[in-house]
Amino acid sequence: MSSLDNLPTFTAAAIATRTDATKGRFVEATSSFAPGDIIFKDDAFVFASCDCEELLPDETQFAKLLDDGEAQSEYARSMRKPFQKILLAMVDLEIISDVDRAKCILKCITKYVENKKALADLLQLSHANDEACKEAAATLRKAYPMVFQAVPAPVLTKIIGVLNTNSHELETLGGSGLFLSACLMEHNCAPNCSFTTAATTLWVTAIRPIAVGEPLSIDYGNMFYRPTAERQASMLDGYGFECTCSACSSAPDLARAFRCPHCPSGVVHPCPTTGYVCTSCKQSLAPAQVEAVCAAEAALQEEFPDSLEAIEAASKELLHPNHYLLFWALDALGLRGAQALVHNVEKLAVMWDRIISSMEYAVPGPHHEKTIYYDQLAQVRVITGDIAGAQAAYTKAYEISCIVSGATTPPTLALKELMDDVPKSRDELVERYGTGHDEYMDEEDEFDDDDDDDDDDDEDMD
Ligand SMILES: [Zn+2]
Ligand SMILES: [Zn+2]
Repeated sequence: MSSLDNLPTFTAAAIATRTDATKGRFVEATSSFAPGDIIFKDDAFVFASCDCEELLPDETQFAKLLDDGEAQSEYARSMRKPFQKILLAMVDLEIISDVDRAKCILKCITKYVENKKALADLLQLSHANDEACKEAAATLRKAYPMVFQAVPAPVLTKIIGVLNTNSHELETLGGSGLFLSACLMEHNCAPNCSFTTAATTLWVTAIRPIAVGEPLSIDYGNMFYRPTAERQASMLDGYGFECTCSACSSAPDLARAFRCPHCPSGVVHPCPTTGYVCTSCKQSLAPAQVEAVCAAEAALQEEFPDSLEAIEAASKELLHPNHYLLFWALDALGLRGAQALVHNVEKLAVMWDRIISSMEYAVPGPHHEKTIYYDQLAQVRVITGDIAGAQAAYTKAYEISCIVSGATTPPTLALKELMDDVPKSRDELVERYGTGHDEYMDEEDEFDDDDDDDDDDDEDMD
């Protein structure tokens, strides 16, 4: 982890927090950044894993419900005896749902009880779903007054709201955490920054050239390969605002791709400013044609194709093979079907070629999800005996990781190791990745007996 130690913290970084009458607080660059430059790192203000989730229904003892490394003192005394009951009551509330979220809320309450100023930064953040948060706070205050009336109702509402809106998933630990500085960056569907977490540290990397004075943005919802309408709905639902970024307000929706009826190889994307125009012949769809493509899309949503044949059939008519529904159908097949397809090497290779080419079409820029796809592609290449292809895929994953996570950070170095010394067989893949580390290998691996309790896995990639 030493490569992370030397990164600048939020306050030491070449950035400044500004306030704008309409958009509130945001972060802007005070020096320029190049793609791959790490701008700052932040440690979680609170975090918790979801390790005790399975124990929770039956385990009544406080100490047994603590995560590895979690101290009893992180929870106020009043919480310890009824701990299980409180957590169960909390995860029952839709706005909380997860045990890691519930634990983070309790830790925030504890911090506040110990020092009224401890939540000063958190209380300044904004949150969505205020009504549901207020209701949850009222329910909890009534059910467990000793615990939840230790903080004023508006403070409890704020804690619930901020954690609901702003928590980040912890990629290597499982569970989630709150990073106060990351909450200050604005959202953009085509952001100029990407963030990565390792253990309880988050760092932000420039993925495009950033000029002095430019606001730093991240994609709050991690909406990879999703259509504009879905991204906007998710922002409104999860964060309480209508996204008006340029990808939403003026760019063609690359995730929705239709075949052009006027020319043989043209692709049509809906665009908020120009409508349904073909990218090659520039002709527009007639209203009846728009209706037809939307109906075809809705039909596909109703009956999601679950075989390569069904996907092929759907992509021969109105929808273009790069349509997001076909990508996600193929994606579901690529992961689930790997075991079935392992004897049909050709089919597996075709499927993955399509996944990658659609992804490069719809998401041409750097994106951290792409490192995962190239890593998976590399594993498929190893399984199909194409070691040179695997090497090329690892190289691609590594190059993208250099930009989205920074060249000298743990996830990038793990890919570099794979690129420099490509696994040559399935057995070697299992060995290198560690059992249970990778979803794909999980499905794949017939030697894998039980790996649920095996905590060594993460160390392989760190
Ligand atoms: Zn947007
Ligand atoms: Zn055309």
